[in-house]
Amino acid sequence: MEPAAAPSPSLPKSVKVPPLRIVDEVALDPQETAVIVVDMQNDFVKPGGKLVVPTAAQTIEPISRLLGRARSSGARVFYTKDTHYPGDPEFEIWGEHVLRGTWGWEIVEELAPREGDIVVEKTRYDGFYGTPLEDLLRVYGVRHVVVVGTVANICVLHTAASAALRWYRVVVPLDGISALNDFDYMAALRQIDFLYRGTLVKSVDGIKFEKPKKTEGETPIV
Ligand code: ZN
Repeated sequence: MEPAAAPSPSLPKSVKVPPLRIVDEVALDPQETAVIVVDMQNDFVKPGGKLVVPTAAQTIEPISRLLGRARSSGARVFYTKDTHYPGDPEFEIWGEHVLRGTWGWEIVEELAPREGDIVVEKTRYDGFYGTPLEDLLRVYGVRHVVVVGTVANICVLHTAASAALRWYRVVVPLDGISALNDFDYMAALRQIDFLYRGTLVKSVDGIKFEKPKKTEGETPIV
């Protein structure tokens, strides 16, 4: 067998991750904030799923903590549910996954939506594409979105990007997303930070659902 062709000499063998801006804490007014849980479905998260991201299971617990605090503060909770019908062209890329109505399509039971949460079915990577997500966020007066879930550089990134392009402030906790490898994970963080000017937070626990304190020197308007 012929050895695999050597990569083009012009391509770097390794790349350095540029510095990322990562904060410990961020305060978000719960009345203007929604958490968007992206595609935490059995096929992506659970053993036996069709397209498992091995580290996705580790994010269940942090996401669950985040949702508990979001709901009790009054922040809205949205879920996206990747949804395909038989013969979807995406199956040529990824194989069959999250076929509507199957076990793999369901959101993992630990994060099952509660009363009042909103579940949006999407057919592509972007949670806004062809869905009522934008309209619903506007109806509820949302300005900030906390995006968690999987896969970091695919549906999380496309949904975060799409929110940022609509001028929502995007907040992403590092322990709330997962990817198939470190490169993909870091690539997602780089784009969210550098390109979309999102806020990267070290942990879900650093996200405070409270009105940000007035900054010093700010004159209240009476
Ligand atoms: Zn899909």
